[in-house]
Amino acid sequence: MNNQLALLRESVEARLDAVRDPTTGKGLFTSGRILGLDVRDGGKVSFTLEAPADVAEHYVAVRDRAEQAARTVDGVTSVTAVLTAHEAKPVSAAGIGRVKHVIAVASAKGGVGKSTVAVNLAAAFAGLGLKTGLLDLDVYGPSAPTLLGVGARRPQMSREKILDPLDAFGMKTMSIGYLVDTNSPMIWRGAMATSAVRQMIDEVAWGELDVLVLDMPPGTGDVQVTLVQRVPLAGAVIVSTPQEMALADVRRGLAMFEKTRAPILGVIENMAYFETPDGKRTHIFGEGGARRTAEAAGVPFLGEVPIDVSLRVSCDAGAPLAATQPDHPVSLRFREMAEAALANVARFNKPAPTIQVR
Ligand code: ADP
Repeated sequence: MNNQLALLRESVEARLDAVRDPTTGKGLFTSGRILGLDVRDGGKVSFTLEAPADVAEHYVAVRDRAEQAARTVDGVTSVTAVLTAHEAKPVSAAGIGRVKHVIAVASAKGGVGKSTVAVNLAAAFAGLGLKTGLLDLDVYGPSAPTLLGVGARRPQMSREKILDPLDAFGMKTMSIGYLVDTNSPMIWRGAMATSAVRQMIDEVAWGELDVLVLDMPPGTGDVQVTLVQRVPLAGAVIVSTPQEMALADVRRGLAMFEKTRAPILGVIENMAYFETPDGKRTHIFGEGGARRTAEAAGVPFLGEVPIDVSLRVSCDAGAPLAATQPDHPVSLRFREMAEAALANVARFNKPAPTIQVR
């Protein structure tokens, strides 16, 4: 008897699946529209047809067809089908689901000006009219609190335990430095650092953004690789100084992103030269090394940033040059590099051809 019921049920499922779901173009059963299918002794069948809320009215006819189809199965005596609408969950403001392009700014080692570049590049994106965020992922040595002059402001937590990013210079920003006192020594165990990073990505109300710039922790170790694998990147920007020694590092940076298949949007050479007031340039750390390395590796070169006193002063003052003096020659550099990076985002992230499923 049970066997017979099981067979009857299978036939009903197959017949329901022969009815096409107008949304997916596949069978109703395969599309997950049939809920609570019940087949009883005596051939009594009942089920719920769950329609997408926005097009529920189109499913009245589908329900009738499904009922009809189930009735044609041998051994079925009655069919009751109830139509319900499935309300799509609103996309949460938390996390990076509504961020168009996540761009990582990385360097193989500290002290090359990665954070300076990340913050000013982000300010340049904002200056181009893009909704921009800056996420400082260096939990061991956060620099965003200083670079953005955040002072005593602290992110608020909503009742749903979602953190609101801070607003600074027209950007949304988050850093572990806004959450804990970084003056007291921090001993982060790996697991704690990982969960802090996860929280700053998933439990922050990033909302709708055009660009989220990630200021990566310096280095190319496991921590960094895990990080870049966690986040769908539109691409990475590698910051280097011009010394020959730094260039092996650039290659390590490139190799790291190769592992995750994130495109390299370009290399930026920081501290490229120093210009005296009479316009003479001195290439303190050598000339054009990062450009040559980028060319040799077949990745774009985005531009050079000179050693500049205003840039250094603005960093220490917590007022990014690209935001506060957008017409400064160095700010214009950042603007050009931001535009070039965006052009490469478009170039390397062409949408995949859509496949029609019939
Ligand atoms: P990283 O993030 O690579 O460790 P930072 O961005 O913190 O490096 O920069 C280190 C120091 O160098 C900071 O004091 C910063 O102000 C300074 N600096 C970075 N780039 C420049 C530049 N192009 N000209 C002058 N000072 C710079």
